[in-house]
Amino acid sequence: MKKGELMARFKEADARIFANIWICMRCNSKNKGTTGKKPTKCRKCNSKGLRLKKKALKKTG
Ligand SMILES: [Zn+2]
Repeated sequence: MKKGELMARFKEADARIFANIWICMRCNSKNKGTTGKKPTKCRKCNSKGLRLKKKALKKTG
């Protein structure tokens, strides 16, 4: 496998995994959205405060 191919694959998988997961800002539970769409509310606490999961959380502070 070529290097470029590997990176492309990783990027694709990356998008598939992270683009679709939303984190509740109230209880921090993960909510899966339908492709490209934000879930209406948290499945646990019904809060509407959801944010997209970020792939790389930097440990600062
Ligand atoms: Zn919640």
